[in-house]
Amino acid sequence: MTNVKQVRSQEVEQAAREALTSRGILIDDIAAIVFEMQYPYNDQLKLEDCVTSVDRVLEKREIQHAILVGIELDRLAERKMLSEPLQTLVETDEGLFGVDETIALGAALGYGSIAVTTYGHLDKHKIGVIKKLDTKRSEHVHTFLDDIVASIAATASSRLAHRLRDAQDRISRDEQVRRDEEDRLS
Ligand code: MG
Repeated sequence: MTNVKQVRSQEVEQAAREALTSRGILIDDIAAIVFEMQYPYNDQLKLEDCVTSVDRVLEKREIQHAILVGIELDRLAERKMLSEPLQTLVETDEGLFGVDETIALGAALGYGSIAVTTYGHLDKHKIGVIKKLDTKRSEHVHTFLDDIVASIAATASSRLAHRLRDAQDRISRDEQVRRDEEDRLS
């Protein structure tokens, strides 16, 4: 057996969560975006459901990897550690540089069409903390982070939408069982 070095999943998850926090992004910030995206479809939705959904999404490997890669590149660009011309492309968030979106969208791809369309919407309209990241002009580079946050929010939105439908179907199935039982007894 070859001795290949393996990183434990828990380590990766922890690193991804810490990376987000270190860049000033809290789960609550992302949950607020999810709430705004999903409330029009479910007026029973509570903010805490959105917090839970974001938390579950952060357990997904594709998302963790995108967080780690994106934030690392932002950090390296901040410290002027990338080589040219990549340094300038990332640092200035050059308009035609699309790898930030590609990585973020790629991470959301496995979570269905709602994740993809919500990502597109967030990329265009920049809601909540995404807007702050996009407009904040400081010593910080957030070229990748805004897209990563949009990807997490989009995936958490999709997850909620699918779970809502599952719950509705379960209720109607239970209701059908109850009616059948009533019919049987009458
Ligand atoms: Mg970007």
